[in-house]
Amino acid sequence: MPNQIGKLYVVATPIGNLSDLSYRAVDILQSVDMIAAEDTRHVRHLLQHYGISNKLTPLHQHNEKHASPLLIEKMQQGLSIALVSDAGTPLISDPGLPLIKLAKAAEITVSPIPGACALIAAISASGLPVSQFMFEGFLPRTSSARKTFFQNKLDCPYTWVVYESSHRILATIKDITEILPGERTIVIARELTKLYETIVNTTVDQALELFERDKNMQRGEFVILVAGTEPTQNKNDISPEQEKLLTVLLKECSIKSAVAMAVEITGARKKTLYQAALKLSESQ
Ligand code: SAM
Repeated sequence: MPNQIGKLYVVATPIGNLSDLSYRAVDILQSVDMIAAEDTRHVRHLLQHYGISNKLTPLHQHNEKHASPLLIEKMQQGLSIALVSDAGTPLISDPGLPLIKLAKAAEITVSPIPGACALIAAISASGLPVSQFMFEGFLPRTSSARKTFFQNKLDCPYTWVVYESSHRILATIKDITEILPGERTIVIARELTKLYETIVNTTVDQALELFERDKNMQRGEFVILVAGTEPTQNKNDISPEQEKLLTVLLKECSIKSAVAMAVEITGARKKTLYQAALKLSESQ
């Protein structure tokens, strides 16, 4: 009689506070045949805290294409495996997709053990409308790519959410300030579940000042949430006359020059005219 096929458990681990591991997760981490971990040293610390000893094998973004088929073989031989990442829910901006895809193809049962996730923790405490939201993971690394990303988000009707690290948080906030309307609500959730947990609800205009004033705000791990566009705030930011002027100018010169001239002529806000010019140039 062939061995019964093993199972793959996708186990969420804490995002800071070690007590945020579920009873069921402890049970699974104890009882599986091995744990595939993004960083085996990191997870060992968690296992020690719970008095769990189990076999660990690395599965991270640099080896997962090669290592995943080997883990599939083990499950086909009857072993059960738990997949964990460094923090939170695996696959949420974390490795694991090749393993899950192969497991599905091999008809191995994939079972989630839910728990901490920085995205979900942040939106649950944000105070923003989140019955619909958009999660975009990590932002592009260069400032110009980030600005293009924010421009594309100007009309997003839902709350949108990104992850950010301490290395780039200040640069990202600066880019946001340049592109998004100053009055737009932004929520910064920092160091969730940890000692210095901070959740700040502010506006785009005030966010930069906050980060420059308090250097501690630049430390740690971040979830950034931005409110979607209010329906009334949409395309009517400029008057029909301003729109007509911009349309004519855009036929003759670059966005930058058209905006500079329109600011000079109308006295309207540069950011407002810039956003309108972008929309107009896209539709031309
Ligand atoms: N899989 C994880 C999850 O479920 O949230 C996310 C992993 S991703 C590689 C790491 C990023 O998640 C960090 O750079 C940060 O943006 C966010 N993050 C993780 N832990 C956090 C925390 N305690 N507070 C705020 N953000 C956190």
